[in-house]
Amino acid sequence: MKVHEYQARRLLQQAGAAVPPFEVIESASQVRQAVAALGGGRLVLKAQVHAGGRGKAGYVVLSDSPAELEEHARRMLSVPMVSRQTGPEGVRVRKLLMAPAVEIDREFYVGMVIDRVRSGPVMMVSREGGVEIEEVAARNPDAIVKEWLHPHLGLQPFQLRRLTAALGLSGDAAKSAAHTMTVLAKIFVEKDCSLAEINPLVLTKADGRSPQRILAIDAKFNFDDNALFRHPDLAEMFDPTEENPNELRAAKHNLNYIALQGNIGCLVNGAGLAMSTMDIIKLHGGEPANFLDVGGSVTRDGATEAFRIILSDPKVRGILVNIFGGIARCDVIAEALVAAARELNFRIPVVVRLEGTNVEQARKILKDADLSVLVAANDLTDAARKVCAAV
Ligand code: GDP
Ligand code: MN
Repeated sequence: MKVHEYQARRLLQQAGAAVPPFEVIESASQVRQAVAALGGGRLVLKAQVHAGGRGKAGYVVLSDSPAELEEHARRMLSVPMVSRQTGPEGVRVRKLLMAPAVEIDREFYVGMVIDRVRSGPVMMVSREGGVEIEEVAARNPDAIVKEWLHPHLGLQPFQLRRLTAALGLSGDAAKSAAHTMTVLAKIFVEKDCSLAEINPLVLTKADGRSPQRILAIDAKFNFDDNALFRHPDLAEMFDPTEENPNELRAAKHNLNYIALQGNIGCLVNGAGLAMSTMDIIKLHGGEPANFLDVGGSVTRDGATEAFRIILSDPKVRGILVNIFGGIARCDVIAEALVAAARELNFRIPVVVRLEGTNVEQARKILKDADLSVLVAANDLTDAARKVCAAV
């Protein structure tokens, strides 16, 4: 599960990290009020969407004119944001964050993920913050310094010294950066994050009144869905408007569905079988429209709902049903197929490959139903050829 920047900032703040104050608004008419609440001056206005790359897309703007901020707010809330992390159609912006702009001396990257090779959390830092970290990793991997968390001791003082030294920090700045890193590591572990990033963590310029400070001015957290049951406070932060509606619908029915770009719908039981089904479609020159794992013990209702979801994608020109009857019984699936074909009255070809428990009964059910849209296949290669030819 992903959350918005303002929610991530709140978590950081609550855990004791230095984050500038901020206001969240939902319409341009709230700009003046937010400006007043923040005490005016130079402010930054930022779109709150799960996609990144907002800066380059023009959805992070700095200004000291309330009228100008209002104008930008109106634009951001009405024109979908297109960035490197969105599709060409962009994403709709519904919330904006406003905060005092900071005078930046240097921008750093601080992030955490699970290192699957070492089976534990790793903290990564880079002096090249602000820009896309993926680019830094590809172009200059040495510019990213890593420290792995000890399973019982967590991030230790010597590691914090290494990390802050890698950022070229010393004295008070190093101390407060180390504090922010400690807070980030604590949130990562306690909240079961799969990703936690501060990009950029900034060192501010000193001015007459205050010395240089370390501040988190952008944050991103992803949480492990399988651990959400023990974090009701996080589950509340879920924003369904950021999700694909078909994926939400599928989740309600315990179907694992991911929308893709192609035109061949897939209905498969088992994630591994779903992956190999997508592979074989591509091998025969087709493009899958979705990944769909209906689960090992698929029921008639589950299969019917899966058909509804696949058919609601207007790109779909044909469907490949690939079921291996292990726990699931082929005859139940065949009945569901026939029922769905009659109930939903679809016109696009459905190529069916069934194998395993009760496959003979299943073949008979399909044959007796005598529906022209249901095309039987002898094996998976035959099925892939037939569905690719059909679309
Ligand atoms: P992202 O592009 O979606 O990651 O959004 P960020 O919040 O990271 O903003 C992108 C860039 O805008 C940052 O790397 C900064 O260079 C700049 N920026 C954001 N907030 C401020 C600010 O308060 N002051 C200044 N000077 N620049 C800022
Ligand atoms: Mn950023």
